[in-house]
Amino acid sequence: MPEIYDLIIVGGGPAGLTAGIYASRRKLKNLVITKDIGGQAATVPKIENYPGFMEIDGFNLTETMKKQAEAFGTEFIFQEVKKISQEKHLFKAETITGEQYLAQSLILSFGVTPRNLDVPGEVEFTNKGVTYCANCDAPLYKDKIVAVVGGGNSALDAAEYLSKIAQKVYLIHRRSEFRGDEVLVDKIKNKANIELVLNSTVQEIKGDKFVQSINIENLKTKEISNLEVDGVFIEIGHVVSADPVRQTVDLDKQNQIVIDDYCHTSQPGIFAAGDVASGEYKQIIIAAGEGAKAALSAYKYLQHKKGEKGEVLDWSLN
Ligand code: NAP
Repeated sequence: MPEIYDLIIVGGGPAGLTAGIYASRRKLKNLVITKDIGGQAATVPKIENYPGFMEIDGFNLTETMKKQAEAFGTEFIFQEVKKISQEKHLFKAETITGEQYLAQSLILSFGVTPRNLDVPGEVEFTNKGVTYCANCDAPLYKDKIVAVVGGGNSALDAAEYLSKIAQKVYLIHRRSEFRGDEVLVDKIKNKANIELVLNSTVQEIKGDKFVQSINIENLKTKEISNLEVDGVFIEIGHVVSADPVRQTVDLDKQNQIVIDDYCHTSQPGIFAAGDVASGEYKQIIIAAGEGAKAALSAYKYLQHKKGEKGEVLDWSLN
């Protein structure tokens, strides 16, 4: 008979790790099933807006969250979940290698994956000059020429970080206004080795064994030009891969898992938190906050399931 957990948390980013900390402190037997630690947050080279830290890198922040969860009793399995289903009164998480795990409740916090540019050369040169992770790959581009594509905080962060390592950084954005924080925009505008290439899109990534250049189109003049670069950092947002839960919980138009204010999904006993859940703001602190909420909601659900009055968790008007 397989072990039955009180709670399985799918995904080990800030939401899932915080859920683990909160669930463990409520003495729920909980397991995090995740491909990696930290998710997208672990790829952010410099975080300046996580309260309590003037500056920290995403890898260290999320590794510390993991240690904290582990110290309170959270278990970890490094696997990818293929399918979530319901089996009588339990939930089943099945991994791509066929293992099955059972729990009384679930938190879905498996985050998002980088969006592709969908241009010729992108697939061919992935990991041969094309990358989606500045934090992981920037050191490979010391004194080289690189392009960063995108206009949000990820692209701005990547450009700023790369400007300290690479010889030159082209920041290519399809509009003239950036989506990211003004503080970051000011920073990159003040860097001598960052050149803004605005109102422009990448048309093709070219090379031999590795990336050598990119063709870009100026959307205003329709002019196509070629830039010699050694690397292309694609930072154009993320998509939700909701396939494991498509049959189980309601999704919105963008494939995000629909949640209410307390992280309940459409399926009682299943909660969701972080970037995978519906909501406009995708921030590390918000994901962590939702992870805490989801764990407290799961605890309350399990109390009710046992026939116990859902106890007041911390603060109540009653
Ligand atoms: P994002 O905010 O969605 O920005 C994506 C950028 O890529 C936008 O500028 C968008 O252009 C552009 N884009 C999208 N599809 C494109 C395409 N096919 N071709 C060319 N350009 C394309 O994504 P993000 O920057 O990854 O950030 C995601 C979330 O994480 C945000 O909420 C962000 O604030 C947060 N984040 C925060 C920090 C931080 O606080 N330090 C760091 C990283 C990320 P348009 O603007 O024209 O739509």
